[in-house]
Amino acid sequence: MTTAPLIDSHCHLDFSIFDDDRSQILQRASTNNINNIIIPGTQSMYWNRIKKLCSQYAQLHACYGLHPYWINNHNKTDIKQLNAYVSLNKPVALGECGLDFRPQQADKKTQRYFFEAQLDIAEQHRLPVVIHSVKATETVISTLKQYKNLTGMIHSYSGSAEQARQLIDLNFFISVSGSVTYNNAKKIQAVVKSIPLNRLLLETDAPDQTDQKNIGKRNEPAYLINTLKKISQLKQIPETVIAKQTTENACLLFSI
Ligand SMILES: [Zn+2]
Repeated sequence: MTTAPLIDSHCHLDFSIFDDDRSQILQRASTNNINNIIIPGTQSMYWNRIKKLCSQYAQLHACYGLHPYWINNHNKTDIKQLNAYVSLNKPVALGECGLDFRPQQADKKTQRYFFEAQLDIAEQHRLPVVIHSVKATETVISTLKQYKNLTGMIHSYSGSAEQARQLIDLNFFISVSGSVTYNNAKKIQAVVKSIPLNRLLLETDAPDQTDQKNIGKRNEPAYLINTLKKISQLKQIPETVIAKQTTENACLLFSI
C-alpha cells in the first residue's frame, strides 16, 4: 500500500458493468488507499444514476455532461437540461465533454457545437471541465484559448509534450491513465516525464484502459497504483511524493 491517499480522477463507476460488485470494488479501492473517485457524466439519461451513486457513497463525486463518443444520442435540448441540472445538483465539474476526431465518430461540426455549449455552461457556473480529446488536441487548445476563465483536466492525455505545455499555460491539468504503463507507450511515457508534478492527475478511466499488468481485465480504481508506480519510475520521484501531490491537485481542481 502507498503511504499517501490517492484520487482516481476519472472513473465510469456508474456503468452497468459494475452493478454486480460495486461495493467490493470500492472496498478494494480503499484497501489500496484510493479514497476519492471522480465520476464523469456521459449521457443525460445516466445523470440521475450518477447522482444516486454519489449520494450513496461519500467517496464518489459527480460530474454531469455529454460525452462526444455518444454524440448521436444527444440532442440540443440536452444542453438546456444540463444547464438546469447543474444549477440544481452542484457537481464537482462539468463533463465529460470534448472532441473525438477518430474517423468513425460524428462530424466535427456537431461535436464542436456540443463541446462549446458545455464550455459556456462551465464558464457560467464557474465549474472546472473534464475534457475528452482524441486526435483533437490542437482544436481543443484553440477552442480553450477563447475561454480564458476556464480550468479543468484533459483526461487520459494522448497529445504531445508541447501541447501539454500549452494546456498547462491555459490553466489545465493533465491526467494520465493506465495506458502509460503499456510496453509500447513510449510517446506518452516521454510526455509524462516533461509534465510538472503540480499539473498532473492520475486516473483509471475504468472500465477501459486497463494497465499492462491487468490487460484484458475490466479496469477498476484499485489498479491506479500500477499507474502511480510507472509514473514514479519514469519521473524518478518516490511514489509517496507523487501520490501526495496528485491528490492535492485533484482536491484543488474539484474542490473536494
Ligand atoms: Zn471517460
